[in-house]
Amino acid sequence: MAVLPAAEARFEYSVPVVIIGAGACGLTAALAAREAGAEVLVLERGAKPAGSTALSTGLIPAAGTRFQRALGIEDSPELLAADIWRKAKGATDRAIVDAVARASGPTIEWLADRHGVAFKLVEGFLYPGHSVLRMHGTPHRTGEELESALLAAAARLGVDIVSSAVATDLYAQGDGRVVAVGFSRPDGATEIVGCDALVLACCGFGGNKEMVREHIPEIADAEFWGHVGNKGDAIRWGTALGAAVADLGSYQGHGAVATPYGNPVNWGLLTNGGYQVNTLGARFSNEVRGYSEQAVEVIAQPGRVAWDVFDETRERPILGFADYDEIRSLGGVRRAESIRALAALMGVPAEALERTNAEVDELRASGREDRWGRKLAGTAPLGAPFCAIKVTGALFHTQGGLVIDPGAAVLRPDGSRLPNLFAGGGAARGLSGPSNWGYFSGGGLLTATTLGFIAGESAARCAKRA
Ligand SMILES: Cc1cc2nc3c(=O)[nH]c(=O)nc-3n(C[C@H](O)[C@H](O)[C@H](O)COP(=O)(O)OP(=O)(O)OC[C@H]3O[C@@H](n4cnc5c(N)ncnc54)[C@H](O)[C@@H]3O)c2cc1C
Repeated sequence: MAVLPAAEARFEYSVPVVIIGAGACGLTAALAAREAGAEVLVLERGAKPAGSTALSTGLIPAAGTRFQRALGIEDSPELLAADIWRKAKGATDRAIVDAVARASGPTIEWLADRHGVAFKLVEGFLYPGHSVLRMHGTPHRTGEELESALLAAAARLGVDIVSSAVATDLYAQGDGRVVAVGFSRPDGATEIVGCDALVLACCGFGGNKEMVREHIPEIADAEFWGHVGNKGDAIRWGTALGAAVADLGSYQGHGAVATPYGNPVNWGLLTNGGYQVNTLGARFSNEVRGYSEQAVEVIAQPGRVAWDVFDETRERPILGFADYDEIRSLGGVRRAESIRALAALMGVPAEALERTNAEVDELRASGREDRWGRKLAGTAPLGAPFCAIKVTGALFHTQGGLVIDPGAAVLRPDGSRLPNLFAGGGAARGLSGPSNWGYFSGGGLLTATTLGFIAGESAARCAKRA
């Protein structure tokens, strides 16, 4: 894993645009670059292209889409940008927030209408931080469906994807221009391919324990549910090329991964009026600030677990989400006719859970804010049958990365562009600010797809000039 002198690159073939990583960012970039007329080669380390994208729920926020208009939902890039900015407390790059928000609607419509990704708007509840319904997902709300649709589109456009190809070395001139990429195959063979432009779409460093421990010690002991092949390569190459990196302490956690099943539990259960308790039957946080910051709250509880407590009214809007349906079918949802009986199924003290439920109902009725800042006014009390799912906190992906401009060009610390290097998705600095609290629901795939689109177009333009 190194950046080597351009003079050492011995390659027999060259492709105008090389993309490293075949998740949502890499595949979206490939589609955009191909449409812009460039030949494209995607290198993917996995035997099967998947990435964190295929492990995800596949939900992407976008503003002003035809899917929203069809349901009479008014949204705009300005409103989306304002929501992202508020969540990150203004501690991120405004120009990128605006560029992503502007590109979000057109990117979703382009993926749907030109490339056959069957998006539908998620209805029935708002995700934390979203002012309006704007989450778009495939029919069963799975990243696997999204990844498959992108792969099918890439095949239709004749994008070459080489899997089981671990990009190891970049070959660059003194000014940072990358002239070739070296990669290794499972049998140990190595190859070098020349390029005019390179897109780093190889996500962050969630799969690199040492880097996580160095930059985000608070989440290092939590389970990592993202793709283990994401080892921080973009950051390491970028830094060696003189690129700026930012917000390495930033990440998307998730405070409700069903245990022992490993599926994320939809946050709509909580935003619609459910709550979380620990094994003592007590609440411990404002559950609706966001699912990312909730990860550390949950792993700080006894046994590193908590329970989502809700009812069938809250459950209804998320039936049909494949992750949730699987938890149900595996028996992960406990159901009971009373809170006392539910407590017995959960193995938590019944009096404590009854007290917590009564306190929550008092908050619903009084409109008072609880001690963590959550308002439950306007939400109806839970009714029988009552439900609970045991959850833990996890790291989903890292949000720090290469600093880019609104054209997805990688920047040096002085703000100048590297000549032909582009990045998006988890490889680039996210929109979350420095920590875990700034993650905007759906921010991972939002930046993977929009910045992938922008990076692909920019790389194709750059390659034409070469
Ligand atoms: C359980 C879970 C649920 C999630 N749900 C959502 C959601 O609903 N909405 C949302 O917005 N976000 C969600 N996320 C986050 C989202 O999955 C990521 O932000 C997004 O997939 C990142 O896309 P990407 O293309 O940048 O990276 P990835 O999809 O991870 O793709 C990167 C690819 O690069 C490859 N790679 C890495 N290094 C190399 C190398 N040296 N050579 C060759 N290939 C390499 C990897 O193998 C990988 O396939 C979720 C994450 C998890 C874990």
